Amino acid sequence: MPSSIVGLHHVTAIASDPQQNLDFYTEVLGLRFVKRTVNFDDPGSYHLYFGDDAGSPGTILTFFPWLRAARGLAGLGEVTRTAFSVPLESIDYWEQRLLASKVPVERTGKRFQEEVLTLADPDGMKIEIVGPADAGSVNAPRYASIPPEHAIRGFFGVTLSEESAEPTAEILGIMGFQQVAEAANRLRFASDGSAPGNHIDLMIDKTAPYGRTGAGTVHHIAFRVRDNASQLEWRAEIQKHLDVTPVLDRTYFHSIYFREPGGVLFELATDPPGFTLDEPIESLGEELRMPAWLEPKRSQIEQRLPPIELHKSLPPIELQTVTGETI
Ligand code: ZN
Repeated sequence: MPSSIVGLHHVTAIASDPQQNLDFYTEVLGLRFVKRTVNFDDPGSYHLYFGDDAGSPGTILTFFPWLRAARGLAGLGEVTRTAFSVPLESIDYWEQRLLASKVPVERTGKRFQEEVLTLADPDGMKIEIVGPADAGSVNAPRYASIPPEHAIRGFFGVTLSEESAEPTAEILGIMGFQQVAEAANRLRFASDGSAPGNHIDLMIDKTAPYGRTGAGTVHHIAFRVRDNASQLEWRAEIQKHLDVTPVLDRTYFHSIYFREPGGVLFELATDPPGFTLDEPIESLGEELRMPAWLEPKRSQIEQRLPPIELHKSLPPIELQTVTGETI
């Protein structure tokens, strides 16, 4: 078998207004703006990457912001929740921070062993802040207005909405994710170890509506593979069961894609070469980067992109005991 898949590499979703998206993920959730680039398949629109200070695999949430995109519906065959982990002791801080920022948030309570907050981003995408007993270490973003002890560690995992469990469970098993817990209609799968993003939950609901792509929905999830050789081994393994694309060069990683039987688009992405390939770590995200094959069209591309501004000096958010709109 190829070397193990330890967890998620990134999650890619669809947003509407890019400035609103940038402000929310850097200023409210305190992630680092890791890369400002374009959608390689549609260079007239941005591809924005957020993560920890270095954009480490397992921490990266990315968006295709389409300025006037209609909202989608996160239903069957889609990722319905994207969860980040923070220390268990930081859940109260996050609840107060989100309320003070006027973000719709709900204290979901305990799920298995973890405390969960559920919030909605400006496009209605459901994000969870999960507090496990051991949230792991942090590489805290340098420009965030969040004390490092409370900073997001990386992904906890994702929840997929599925009509039935077995076909998806089978492919997760092939990828090294085994069922570790079950409650009501939620099945939890995990890989060995404690890498960020190593939890995949399936919510089984035969009556849920099918999802519809649009702002606020997840486009695909990517799992980590160690290197190019391991990716080719995994490609051969997956191909025994499902159609899988050839290797695509995504500049910061190499990717293969396949649709799991329940309908969610899965990607396997390599850890290297990473986000410092074309700019130093000190200034990640500050300038528009694009692969060499798009550089000849840079001026036309720049004219089509709406301007966005990264705010690096952030005022602290005044925490107070407030109640706000719940989702
Ligand atoms: Zn991807």
